Amino acid sequence: MNIIRGAFFVSLSLLLFLSVGPSSAEESVQPNISYYKAEDINFSLSDARQMAAQSWNYIGTEPPSFGYDTTPHWLKLELDAASYYRLLHIQYPLLDHVDIYFISPQGDVEHHHVGDTKPFYQRPIAADGFVIPVPFHEAHEVLIRVQTSSSLSVPIRIWETSAFHQAQGPRYVSIGLYFGVLLCMVVYNLFGYVVTRETSFFSYSIYVVFTGLLMAALSGVGFRYLWPNWLWLQERAVTLFGGLAFVFATLFITQLLGLRKQSKAWHTGLISLGSFAGVVAICSLFLPYSITIFMLLPFAVIACFYVLILGVAMWIKGMQHAQIFTLAWFFFLVSIIFNALGYLGLIDGQFIQRYAIMIGSGIEVLLLSWVITLMYSAERTEKLGAQEQMLKHAVAAQEAQRVLNEELEIRVKDRTQELQQVSESLQRANATLERKSNEDGLTKLFNRRFFDTQIRNEFKRSRRTGSPLALILLDIDHFKPLNDTHGHQVGDAVLVEFAQRLQSQAIRANDAVCRYGGEEFAIILPATDLAAAELVAKRFLTVISDQPFVNNSSEKAAPLAVTASAGVAVLRDTMDNANDLVEAADLALYAAKDQGRNMLILATE
Ligand code: GH3
Ligand code: MG
Ligand code: MG
Repeated sequence: MNIIRGAFFVSLSLLLFLSVGPSSAEESVQPNISYYKAEDINFSLSDARQMAAQSWNYIGTEPPSFGYDTTPHWLKLELDAASYYRLLHIQYPLLDHVDIYFISPQGDVEHHHVGDTKPFYQRPIAADGFVIPVPFHEAHEVLIRVQTSSSLSVPIRIWETSAFHQAQGPRYVSIGLYFGVLLCMVVYNLFGYVVTRETSFFSYSIYVVFTGLLMAALSGVGFRYLWPNWLWLQERAVTLFGGLAFVFATLFITQLLGLRKQSKAWHTGLISLGSFAGVVAICSLFLPYSITIFMLLPFAVIACFYVLILGVAMWIKGMQHAQIFTLAWFFFLVSIIFNALGYLGLIDGQFIQRYAIMIGSGIEVLLLSWVITLMYSAERTEKLGAQEQMLKHAVAAQEAQRVLNEELEIRVKDRTQELQQVSESLQRANATLERKSNEDGLTKLFNRRFFDTQIRNEFKRSRRTGSPLALILLDIDHFKPLNDTHGHQVGDAVLVEFAQRLQSQAIRANDAVCRYGGEEFAIILPATDLAAAELVAKRFLTVISDQPFVNNSSEKAAPLAVTASAGVAVLRDTMDNANDLVEAADLALYAAKDQGRNMLILATE
């Protein structure tokens, strides 16, 4: 699609140039010409006039073109008689010294000296080339001596005066069109630079400025309009502006293609070419044109080839719009090659010499301006796309993070729950362990260990709060004979039932029923005075003696009558520690045993 648009673009520009460019060629005549190369520096006009006819080299109507040759050349042409006024036009504007001798049939000589080493205003008729009025109407001879450091090309036409001036119109239009296009490109791309700050727009504009100046120098327009009195510049304008144009071309191409990133090798090559162009431009300030033009011309061809192949390489690499870039340089290269060949005298053709490079560079400039915009917008689109992609990624990453966080939260919750469960079961296990460590294995009452701790704690508490503390010690009567008679297992069963009966009577939550050891039991009664403790002890003895105990030695065995004795003590101020209380209860218990058993005794002071 781009190729099609490019081709359309190019053919349109070509048509424009062609329509106004090489017109009116028929209205002038190319005279028959002979030439002589004057190796001898002293060769003069009279030598030329006296020279034998066979010494002249006849070339007919072909435009004389000798390539780069600084030797003076003499041209001889015969003009027919004419009733109208005529102009002799040398179309190549860069010739340094041109001496024109019109020799009348009577032998009178009219001499004109022109050339671009003389200020522009000294020209008899202001034109891009050299235009001299033909002084004689009769048939006569014209001798021209040409010497120059530029390409020695002397295209000569004889015009009818008014026809010449008419013919200049289209030529000026085409030249105006060309420079107009260039100016537009410069301004347009400078705007582009100001708006986008994209440096390739800027370097491209400068490149076009120097291309325009180069073309102005080549076409004679520069000397005529821009630096008519500046001979120094006119002498080196082509090489100076040519060199600078290439410097900025390389700069612009590097920036446009992003060459440094694309390929180190191509970049280095291009920068080397640009540096050489810079050297040429600097040299043109000091060295004569005849030397620097030979630096610039082959360089221009090589550099254009290089850029062309670079374009193809980028095209193959898949760079967008590289084909238009290549096409642009292809046009420029072709025009430069044609031009170079023309100036070197290797091919002939006024049209090619005059217009090829303008058409080539014009198309190149237009295409480049197009491609620079295309590449810029492509890059922008790419950047926007990348940003969008990044945004998408960021959103996706955020979403992923959110999901991850949620999962993490759930896992943490699960884990916390698990931990809680573990901790609860641990607590339970601990509680069980603690309970077990305080429990008597047989009766499931509190054991002796618990009793020892608890009685001490209750002692301290009672001392602290001043509340009473009672202790009952219980001992089963005649348990040994029971054991001996019915067996140990029956004894155990009695102990278990005994414990249950005691426990059933321990009503208060803080009452602790403990197995003190063997068939002895201890009941700690906090906040209980002696009278209340006596009541409790009575209840205990009653619940034991009321009903006989199950005898599980055999099914028919008679139930067992069991009684117990109790000693009851309360904490007195005179007691120093818990042991005193236990001792007091124990003494009371012994007293009960002594006094016949199945009774309770209260400990006295
Ligand atoms: P007293 O009326 O004077 O208290 O006489 P007693 O026979 O009850 O007293 P003694 O101290 O002479 O005997 C206690 C017996 O209790 C001795 C022992 O065989 C028995 N005994 C101690 N612990 C257990 C036990 O865990 N299981 C069983 N079956 N018997 C036990
Ligand atoms: Mg005992
Ligand atoms: Mg006993």
